Amino acid sequence: MRYYDHLIFHYSKPGRCGYTLPKAAAPEVSTAVPEGLRRTSAPALPEVSEVDVVRHYTNLSQMNFGVDTGFYPLGSCTMKYNPKINEEIAALPAFAAIHPLQPVATVQGVQAVYRGMEQMLSAITGMAYFTFNPCAGAHGELTGLMIMRAYHRSRGDIARTKVIVPDSAHGTNPASAAVCGLDVVVVKSNADGLVDVEDLKPLLGPDLAGIMMTNPNTLGLFERDIKQIAALVHEAGGLLYYDGANMNPLIGKVRPGDMGFDIMHLNLHKSFSTPHGGGGPGSGPVGVAAFLKDCLPYPHTDVQPHDDLCLVTPAKTAGRVSAHMGNFGVILRAYAWLLTIGRQHVREVGPIATLNANYVKELLRDAYKLPIPSVCKHEFVFDGLINDGSREGKEGATTLDVAKRLLDFGFHAPTIYFPLLFHQALMIEPTETESKETLDAFISIMHRIAAEAAEDPDILHAAPHACPISRPDDTTAAKHPVINWSDLQAE
Ligand SMILES: *Cc1c(COP(=O)(O)O)cnc(C)c1O
Repeated sequence: MRYYDHLIFHYSKPGRCGYTLPKAAAPEVSTAVPEGLRRTSAPALPEVSEVDVVRHYTNLSQMNFGVDTGFYPLGSCTMKYNPKINEEIAALPAFAAIHPLQPVATVQGVQAVYRGMEQMLSAITGMAYFTFNPCAGAHGELTGLMIMRAYHRSRGDIARTKVIVPDSAHGTNPASAAVCGLDVVVVKSNADGLVDVEDLKPLLGPDLAGIMMTNPNTLGLFERDIKQIAALVHEAGGLLYYDGANMNPLIGKVRPGDMGFDIMHLNLHKSFSTPHGGGGPGSGPVGVAAFLKDCLPYPHTDVQPHDDLCLVTPAKTAGRVSAHMGNFGVILRAYAWLLTIGRQHVREVGPIATLNANYVKELLRDAYKLPIPSVCKHEFVFDGLINDGSREGKEGATTLDVAKRLLDFGFHAPTIYFPLLFHQALMIEPTETESKETLDAFISIMHRIAAEAAEDPDILHAAPHACPISRPDDTTAAKHPVINWSDLQAE
């Protein structure tokens, strides 16, 4: 058995001990526990020494890959470094030891963080107000659409149920609209990969709730007709929703509010440096234009006449979207990041992320197919290898093979097979936190992999060679993950 197949139970030896509790003053069997509920035998805990525990969990932790261990160029995910000062601040007992149901008067500092964050994000995006209650990007989308619906309903405009989504949109956009009970209509992209205004016009009418877009779009292209699109949608009585999950290249440069958007979400766990992955916790704050303030979800932080901060329920609220006010610890980390970087330097995030992406793209386009050759924003898409090594009787190396081979060299794989517009999509996003040396190391390995593919694609077909598990069945791994002891026993 390999060490990573072991459970802590496998090290158990009767009588071995790592820690002894002090003798309790309380009686061994509390009479407060009713007879029928008391255990009759001791729990089956592993009996192990301290060194067994430390080695076992240290070994397991080293099997994990994260931004703290290596380069993580996962496109559309902005896996930037998470500065450790954010963690220190989030761990301060004054923040970490409070209770969500504490009277607001006793947590004015926390409310000041919400308020300060609202003001900073409003300055960055051109929105007027932000709610921090949504706990993820997709959750933000749902919240934004609920705000859109609450607005139309508050005006008695109940026929507006149609939401337009471009065919290049992130999959969560149509999904969120459907979950919100709205009807999704797709608008086509033109040959340049941009929303086709002529295709859009006939979709606008009295049943339109709004349109969901992102700019630059999922292909990293700037929607040049955005002003015209905004005017057309507003004229038809609809609202514009902005998917700001990938705000990284725009921070401090371009504001969705200025483009004509009314509602948007941000992913603090992407662009604003908070930890990301493994299912959470995240934060997807939603910003709205001033006229939508009354439709925000509750509770919302507001200022009382004598400058105290209080929680309010807006008059036409879209409702409650989470138990309290989102993941405060995540919001606090992003707040710390913005204060650390400051107004001056936050403007450099986008340009450096963009420079890094273009640097990697230009140095790899001799080996990988580049379907959109123009200057990209913070990420770009390849469409597989130029020479995949395929020949008579030999199958060429695919994007999956390249991704798997990268793992052998200590790099996380880029996003693969997304966006769906290209068969062999490989979407790379280096982020601004990577040095030129790291980018050069990645570029050199990507060249080496391309050379291996041209020579003998079987090396790639069998990759990874250096990981504990080589190629699980992706569907089974996703649908029936074996993640605890009882799952393993059941196998
Ligand atoms: C990541 C992403 C989302 C969803 O964010 P989650 O926090 O994963 O729910 C939505 N839209 C775009 C464009 C994204 O990249």
